[in-house]
Amino acid sequence: MSHSMFDLFKIGVGPSSSHTVGPMVACARFANDAETAGILEQVYAVKVDLYGSLALTGHGHATDVACVMGLMGEMPDSIDPDNMETLVNMVKGTSELPFAGQRFVPFDWDEHIEFHMAEVLPEHPNGMTLTALDENGSPLVSKTYFSVGGGFVVQQGENEALADDVPLPYPFDSAEQLLTHCRTNQLSIDALMFENEAARIAAGKTPTDKDHQLVCKHIDAIWGVMKACIERGIHQDGELPGKLKIRRRAKAMKQRLDTQKEEGCPVDTADYVNMYALAVNEENAAGGRVVTAPTNGAAGVIPAIVAYYDAFVSPGNTQGIRTLLATAAAIGSLYKTNASISAAEVGCQGEIGVACSMAAGGLAAAMGGTLEQIENAAEIGMEHNLGLTCDPVDGLVQVPCIERNTMGAIKAINAVRLALAGDGQHSVSLDSVIKTMHQTGLDMQSKYKETSLGGLATNVIPINVVNC
Ligand code: SF4
Repeated sequence: MSHSMFDLFKIGVGPSSSHTVGPMVACARFANDAETAGILEQVYAVKVDLYGSLALTGHGHATDVACVMGLMGEMPDSIDPDNMETLVNMVKGTSELPFAGQRFVPFDWDEHIEFHMAEVLPEHPNGMTLTALDENGSPLVSKTYFSVGGGFVVQQGENEALADDVPLPYPFDSAEQLLTHCRTNQLSIDALMFENEAARIAAGKTPTDKDHQLVCKHIDAIWGVMKACIERGIHQDGELPGKLKIRRRAKAMKQRLDTQKEEGCPVDTADYVNMYALAVNEENAAGGRVVTAPTNGAAGVIPAIVAYYDAFVSPGNTQGIRTLLATAAAIGSLYKTNASISAAEVGCQGEIGVACSMAAGGLAAAMGGTLEQIENAAEIGMEHNLGLTCDPVDGLVQVPCIERNTMGAIKAINAVRLALAGDGQHSVSLDSVIKTMHQTGLDMQSKYKETSLGGLATNVIPINVVNC
């Protein structure tokens, strides 16, 4: 299945796509369905049950807040992150919430959201059941959803791998198919992605120039949100929320780089790449507006690479940025189809590893790489992230997550350097490395897959726990 660019790049809020964006989407969908079914007047309470990784790391990922926002009908791409605290205080202060934004029902934060720490639903580690209760406390409707990574949500019984609902000119399930389409039709990967995306907009009709322009407009808007996130991140300081008391670093790094430049001292582009990635992931950790790329935990890698391209490789090249993002999305679609972008399923290789691979392929394309070099760059980007575990300390998307984005971005640049230094010949195909990542993820013990029950999460003690 070929995924839309705008499913791989979704505008959302921090700190997590699977634990914040996905649950908000599921709850909003549940509320909207209740409204559509005409049962709002019969609803006297709503209950949220969280299972598996959603329960284990839900507090650190603000899953409860996301669920409440969703039940109120808010969506990640439109909610004002700055207004969320006010809404939370309103619900906690009044002990009621406007279900679907309309019907006020009693809501006790501790009673109506239950974290089932020891239970995992069989279908997926990120499970949640939503129930609307009538005046007698009996279930009116109950639905189970799975947040399967990157903000994607599947309802129990739905098949996530449903075929595209509109015929695409160039459908692809593997890198081999993707590259064959490109070679046969003399297309670049980004041109192919633009044709598929225009076909989605045209919905069965022949795409017009307007449809193509709309694709450009959407992709430019995605970069606009990424860029705004970097801008905000480099102007904020202070501590990030949570027990770890992590200090933001992007602003200080910018000030240091500005001073170095003013004094005529040499500056290293790597420092800028680090700064861009830190800025995005500090914003994400603070619950700010970010683009899932392909997840929130890994949201800084691709913006850092686009910003690097825009600042140091080809300044002001809008078409180059579109090429970078569209090619990255094609690569992300391959991981989504054939492996996973959910850390709860495959560990951090499914987040930072995938983002690094996407960024490497995208940058190689924007720098004029051949199809073989692009595939090579994307493959290298994942090959050296294989086995990467997910072990967020205290369940917060901060340690190791924020720094890990800098590593993913720098690794992507090196992958491109290696790929462009060669002629495209390589022994490990992108399809092979995707398969390997998936197998490695399935073999990984569950404690290393976004549960905070292993790795750094068990060896680093939050400061205020030490003080207690
Ligand atoms: S360790 Fe990696 S996968 Fe896990 S939350 Fe952090 S960034 Fe996401």
